[in-house]
Amino acid sequence: MSTPINWTERATSLQFDGRAVINGQRVAALDGQTFAKHSPVDNRLLGAVARGQAADIDAAVKAARAAFDDRRWAGQPPAARKKVLQRFAEKILAAGEELALLETLDMGKPVQYSLGVDVSATARCIAWYGEAVDKVYDEIAPTGDSALALITREAMGVIGAIVPWNYPMIMAAWKLGPALAAGNSVVLKPSEKSPYTAARLAELAVEAGLPPGVFNVVPGYGHEAGEALALHMDVDAIGFTGSTRVGRRMLDYAGRSNLKRVYNELGGKSAFLVFEDFKDIARAAQTVAGSMFFNQGESCNAPSRVLVHDSVADEFVKLVATEAPKYAAGDPLSGKAELGALVDETQMRTVLGYIDAGNTEGARCVAGGRQARSETGGYYVEPTVFDGVTNDMKIAREEIFGPVMSIIRFKTEAEAVAMANASSYGLQASVWSDSLNRAHRVSRALRAGTVHVNQYDEDDITVPFGGYKQSGNGRDKSLHAFDKYTELKTTWIRLD
Ligand code: NAD
Repeated sequence: MSTPINWTERATSLQFDGRAVINGQRVAALDGQTFAKHSPVDNRLLGAVARGQAADIDAAVKAARAAFDDRRWAGQPPAARKKVLQRFAEKILAAGEELALLETLDMGKPVQYSLGVDVSATARCIAWYGEAVDKVYDEIAPTGDSALALITREAMGVIGAIVPWNYPMIMAAWKLGPALAAGNSVVLKPSEKSPYTAARLAELAVEAGLPPGVFNVVPGYGHEAGEALALHMDVDAIGFTGSTRVGRRMLDYAGRSNLKRVYNELGGKSAFLVFEDFKDIARAAQTVAGSMFFNQGESCNAPSRVLVHDSVADEFVKLVATEAPKYAAGDPLSGKAELGALVDETQMRTVLGYIDAGNTEGARCVAGGRQARSETGGYYVEPTVFDGVTNDMKIAREEIFGPVMSIIRFKTEAEAVAMANASSYGLQASVWSDSLNRAHRVSRALRAGTVHVNQYDEDDITVPFGGYKQSGNGRDKSLHAFDKYTELKTTWIRLD
């Protein structure tokens, strides 16, 4: 048996470089400004991060445009781009422990998940798009004898990627994989709450043979670097993942600038429907707890609205209340904690505010409900379950983005479907039923980008990910993501 890694000890020698990566080089912000980054694990100071502004974004976009125009990347055959991306993926895996530790100290998730989930999914995503790109063919239209009409896909140009802090590397990879494989250049703006791994990824990409300038990273605040990127006149598309509030702004920025394409992957309030005919109710309870509390509940697709049939609700609530404490918050560096720290104090206060709202509005807290591990100086909240929630309560309507589950009771299938759909979001949903007819009927009726049946966490790079309604547009992952970062060209050729 191998000795477990002593992450706490490793953390003492970890390097934190908060500078940008432009044209393959580490650079400070042009005006030299930085902001201090603390760890949510225990509030220790990690370092100073470059505070990118419009001038830094402009330098990165210019580098990306130059790389695109001279075709140093787009002009390489797909098979050559594939090799570079495969090497990039290998380098991510080889640097896995360093990346995992950076991610955990930056945003608080348990380190074994940073390594086992975030690092591996990031590498798989990059490798998968690399492997796909020399297997995707273009089309020829069914014309008459006198013409040939080609329908081809071309790289779009410069892609701006703006991503959140909950899965910093994976969210970046979902944009980078298809955008780079297709031949584009990218300027990535990571969240100010989790800036470190993005720039390391850019360095690893250059080491893997990605030409300098193709993948640039500018850290900074949303209203500064983020806004400058989304407003830039020479950016062709924005791949955004984040809140619905900021997604709205992305559309506005595009309208006020060059009508760049905007692909929004936004928030969720996913419904998990448990019907009375589903026999293995203990498995449903285990699954919902595992999916809800994974990543501290900071997942866009967390099943935070649990709709349960009246006749099984008492038993289900009891089971979930027993499951919840198994996800107690612990030291994210221990390698054993199920729940880590929330990303920062603001997020912790927001989550505690929702717990107060649940109590005030008359829901019954059956597990958790309080701050945890405050002696560490970090930001932790107990895994929390509310019973007796109604669909109009604040905790059922708004995305909490923390470890708080709301259980709502229903009497009929029609009522359950109506409540599940009565949300401004439509990211994911789950149906638990042993009736084949009901499972299909309800899956069709649910307005969500992904519907799970009798499970929640099946997921893979091979399938699209994205939402209906205010959960966004466009889809990350799968071959469909190529649609977002390529232009469709028709070429008519007359044949004499
Ligand atoms: P956020 O919207 O606050 O920030 C996301 C990114 O946008 C950050 O990089 C931020 O700096 C930047 N930003 C903020 N204000 C900006 C502005 N005015 N102009 C330009 N950029 C700006 O979101 P967050 O708190 O980082 O992430 C949590 C949200 O992300 C949740 O709503 C969650 O559901 C969503 N999310 C969605 C998916 C999905 O695939 N649908 C996946 C993960 C997270």
